[in-house]
Amino acid sequence: MQNCIFCKIIAREIPGDIVFEDDSIIAFRDIQPLAPVHVLVVPKEHYRSLDELPSGDLLNAGNILLAIKNVAEQLGVSGGYKVVTNCGEPAGQVVPHLHFHILAGKKFVP
Ligand code: AMP
Ligand code: ZN
Repeated sequence: MQNCIFCKIIAREIPGDIVFEDDSIIAFRDIQPLAPVHVLVVPKEHYRSLDELPSGDLLNAGNILLAIKNVAEQLGVSGGYKVVTNCGEPAGQVVPHLHFHILAGKKFVP
C-alpha cells in the first residue's frame, strides 16, 4: 500500500533491520526500541490492524502466531517475552499496518 512505512520496508524502498522473512511474513527490529529486544512481526499483506484480518483467514492467523514463536526462538528469548498488538489509534497504534511487537529483556506491566 502506498505511503505505508511497513509496506515500504517489505518492498525494500526504505531500510529495515530484518531478522526474519518468508513468503508471507517479515520481522524487523523496532527503530525506537522499548526493550533490549524489540522486534515487529508483520504480515506482508496490508491489513490495517487485527480487526481487518479476515475471520476465515486461518492460514495467515496461524502463520503469524507460529512466526512470532519462531522469531522469539531465533532471538534467544523463548520463555521470556511479551507479544503486543495495538489495535486502533485509541490503543496507541501509530503505524496502520498489522504488526505484533515482541518485547523481551525487561519487566513489563501488565
Ligand atoms: P504501534 O504503536 O503499535 O503502531 O507501533 C509502531 C512501531 O513501529 C513503533 O514502536 C515504532 O517505533 C516502530 N517503527 C516506526 N517506523 C519504523 C521503521 N521505519 N522501522 C522500524 N520500526 C519502526
Ligand atoms: Zn502496509
